[in-house]
Amino acid sequence: MNRVTEGNLDAVASGIAVTDLRSALQFLASLPGELVSTDVEIDANAEISGVYRHVGAGGTCMRPTRKGPAMLFNNVKGYPGVRVAIGLLLTRQRVGRLLGCAPERLGFLLKDSVQHPVPPVTVGADRAQCQEVVHLASDPAFDLRTLLPAPTNTPDDAGPYVTMGMCYASDPDTGESDITIHRLCVQSRDELTMWLTPGRHIDAFRQKAEAAGKPLPISISIGVDPAIEMAACFEPPTTPLGFDELSVAGAIRGRPVEMARCLTIDERAIAHAEVVIEGELLPDVRLREDQNTHTGKAMPEFPGYTGEAKAELPVIKVKAVTHRRNPILQTTIGPSEEHVNMAGIPTEASILDMVGRAMPGRLQNVYAHSSGGGKFLAILQFRKASPVDEGRQRQAALLAFSSFPELKHVILVDEDVDIFDTDDVLWAMQTRYQGDVSTVFIPGVRCHPLDPSQTPAFSPSILQEGMSCKTIFDCTVPFHLKTQFRRSQFLEVDVKRFLPDFA
Ligand code: MN
Repeated sequence: MNRVTEGNLDAVASGIAVTDLRSALQFLASLPGELVSTDVEIDANAEISGVYRHVGAGGTCMRPTRKGPAMLFNNVKGYPGVRVAIGLLLTRQRVGRLLGCAPERLGFLLKDSVQHPVPPVTVGADRAQCQEVVHLASDPAFDLRTLLPAPTNTPDDAGPYVTMGMCYASDPDTGESDITIHRLCVQSRDELTMWLTPGRHIDAFRQKAEAAGKPLPISISIGVDPAIEMAACFEPPTTPLGFDELSVAGAIRGRPVEMARCLTIDERAIAHAEVVIEGELLPDVRLREDQNTHTGKAMPEFPGYTGEAKAELPVIKVKAVTHRRNPILQTTIGPSEEHVNMAGIPTEASILDMVGRAMPGRLQNVYAHSSGGGKFLAILQFRKASPVDEGRQRQAALLAFSSFPELKHVILVDEDVDIFDTDDVLWAMQTRYQGDVSTVFIPGVRCHPLDPSQTPAFSPSILQEGMSCKTIFDCTVPFHLKTQFRRSQFLEVDVKRFLPDFA
């Protein structure tokens, strides 16, 4: 059975169209094993992640863990009327169901969506569900810390973090907008610090505003349609500076994302968001990330380690928090399979896009593997069709490095290897790979600063933190030897004749 059909049948059978977080949760509740909830009181301080690690984190999270259902905490200590949702996009199968797509075709869905963008539209205040309840920071009673149960993820964290905030800001010169998820730490009643890894587009806008001595308006929408969360994770060159990634979400759904005008700043926010934080990135103001706790640590990040607290981070001065009635605060665990999907599937789309344009028909599929958090390792399934295709698989790997700069390792396999089955990929490495001739090192290239092995102390070829030796593991059979590498062929039979329920 075609799994695209299966995914669509899920939505049809339940009769629930996913348009926001609530409908996504409703949809998951209609499917077996996709959503669990608890009414037992939970502490946002380290307990939520402590529980969910066992229920479903997976990914690069410390063991024991597993991939599991999304979870809803209905009773958060000190926050009556606010629920916390975690792990919505945690399994690739669930992402497929939420986006109406077969799990192994998600990279293609996102690639097609980038190629056919549908820009967002602004709607009137009557459709701004995110503004049903308004809290202004000018009110002396206003306090971010009592309004939102932002979790601290481990006892070592610098503070409470907003981990699933869709940060939206615009270029002060061109008015072009960008949406990205950033690490936001609650610092006081009306301040958040924001960590922007080098090269991020909102940082480019922020630097322009700062050079002009001006604040940059920014909205942070939390708890939205999962299509928006996937789209927000695209990076250049696939979505260059000035490309509003919300238009990818519009393409996934076949209808534009609806935006509401913010109440206290000149910016827009996602109209159906559960919670919106309105604020301004202040020029020339920096705060130490762990100024309140002095832990020296930030929060658990996607490679599986807790990043160090940054000494000087840009500051968002909050002007207002608006939310739907009885809001649901969405959060995630950094080192979890949810990050793998959110970062990795756009990575797959970027690689499919660039390699597909350079050499159509050769790259069959890509998987941004769980072990690299969706960023460090990509497995490319490449079909060599003729003798002149020998070597083109390595060209495809070089294009993959160009299409996603944070990629560190590429494993190349043939078309008969299941890239989503790690056992099968490692089988290719055992039987179709010779270390001295099948490995290509590309030392001294910029990668991602959160990989702790990328330091001069680890390797003499690394001059600066954040540089790496990118490596290609070519586990494809040389074309002229292909006939000698045919897998054992079994008789094709109808298993259902013997086991009627066999799926
Ligand atoms: Mn961007």
